[in-house]
Amino acid sequence: MKTYQEWLSLRDELVSQDRLPHMAYINGAYVPAVNGETFDCINPTDESLLAKVASCDEDDVNVAVEAAKNAFKSGVWSTMAPGKRKRILQKWADLLEAHEDELALIDTLDMGKSINEMVNIDVPDSIDALRWSAECIDKLYGEIAPTDPKNLALITREPLGVVATITPWNYPLMMVMWKISSALAAGNCVVLKPSEKSPLSALRIAQLATQAGLPDGVFNVLPGFGHTAGKALALHMDVTTLAFTGSSRVAGLLMQYAGQSNMKRVWLEAGGKSPCIVFSDCKDIEAAAEGAASAIFTNQGEVCIACSRLYVHDSIKDEFMTALLRAAKTYQPGDPLNPDTKMGPMVDKAQLETVTRYIQSAKEEGANLLLGGEPDYQEGNGFFAKPTIFDQANNGMTFVQEEIFGPVLAVQTFETEEEAIALANDSQYGLGAAIWTADLSRAHRVSRLLESGMVWVNTWGDGDTTVPFGGVKASGNGRDKSWHALEKYTEVKYTCIRL
Ligand code: NAD
Repeated sequence: MKTYQEWLSLRDELVSQDRLPHMAYINGAYVPAVNGETFDCINPTDESLLAKVASCDEDDVNVAVEAAKNAFKSGVWSTMAPGKRKRILQKWADLLEAHEDELALIDTLDMGKSINEMVNIDVPDSIDALRWSAECIDKLYGEIAPTDPKNLALITREPLGVVATITPWNYPLMMVMWKISSALAAGNCVVLKPSEKSPLSALRIAQLATQAGLPDGVFNVLPGFGHTAGKALALHMDVTTLAFTGSSRVAGLLMQYAGQSNMKRVWLEAGGKSPCIVFSDCKDIEAAAEGAASAIFTNQGEVCIACSRLYVHDSIKDEFMTALLRAAKTYQPGDPLNPDTKMGPMVDKAQLETVTRYIQSAKEEGANLLLGGEPDYQEGNGFFAKPTIFDQANNGMTFVQEEIFGPVLAVQTFETEEEAIALANDSQYGLGAAIWTADLSRAHRVSRLLESGMVWVNTWGDGDTTVPFGGVKASGNGRDKSWHALEKYTEVKYTCIRL
């Protein structure tokens, strides 16, 4: 790991030499937006301008979808020999690895994420997703059905065509790579619209894809806003599939856009309000408290699976809260380029204001502030929030029901297992859940009853590319990573041959 000073020097080089990508990437080349407009990309740590980025809208969407459609129809990618496609994606992964410091730096500057996490989690995980999907390409076999022997019944998997992906800002590179690696491995052509709050790493990796040999038009990136570029993509008649990660509100809109246009498939990875349940038989209270703190304060709480609701058994509350407060205090906000910093700034001023509003509402509704509170914002000094914990919360409170997407934890107690499960399930969301218990039967029993796409027992957030990531209820319907993601990007075809 580089030192703080080394990261600062690298940052100065990157920014002063104007090396941050800022144009759309269509058909294998950087291009300005058709309307010539740009938007400001701001570093949330010091509020400085990083780049003026092309602000794409419907015109650019039409150009990019046309490029992707032509590339798909030409078969330059979809019918390329699987082994060759695999080698191109692997070469791309090699190039990402060769640029890992630059990619880590770009996301840290763009959204305030800790450089330590970028280097140790986001970048390696993104590369792993690409390598894993690449390896799958020549392992996707078809089937022959055991039908009447007078026929030969073939079941094959085919790519879908133009896949549009729309991604959020909280894990810029990783969210992009989880989606596009599977979509491209399955032989599709992709038009990506990254979040307007963190578009830079997506623009950089597109150029590296071309260098790796990905044919022009197979992967296109359109920076721009949701209500312009995003909406136009979602309504486009030539987009066959929409893969989205973001809020549940926008996820609902995308389902409407699909219905209003061509009934494109819509895969949604949406919001969360994950519960963490600590039972009285929890073996290591210190570890559970550290786990609970990490589950809400990692990435400033800007994590879809953040456990923002903590349910702790009444009998261990005092001991647990002492350990939790101790662990929480290690998340002091600071410059995310310092490898020792565990918590950077919020992504922008609007997100900081959202956090502030929910802290105020928690106080107004009667929760008891134990740590943190409203941010001490001073213009120009970055959008820093404080790790914040309330106890005496209840499920009727707004900040317990709504996703804050910030470092704010609501603590409640429970007495019985049934009560804990009922409290955990009393949410519109169903993304992740964490349980801390030493009782194996309880772990299985509770895990089955939790309305959640993912459950962690005595840990939180673990999961490499081999396991699916996604939720139920208002948290969405899709899965990223693993074979389950790959299948989303293929169409099953049945062909019957009379012998
Ligand atoms: P968001 O929904 O505001 O935006 C996500 C993307 O959608 C952005 O690219 C945005 O420009 C685009 N968009 C916005 N309005 C649109 C519209 N009308 N039409 C088309 N596109 C539109 O979400 P966000 O603030 O970027 O990200 C935070 C959210 O993402 C949180 O709710 C978080 O839980 C969720 N998230 C979920 C997962 C998961 O895997 N389930 C992972 C990360 C983040």
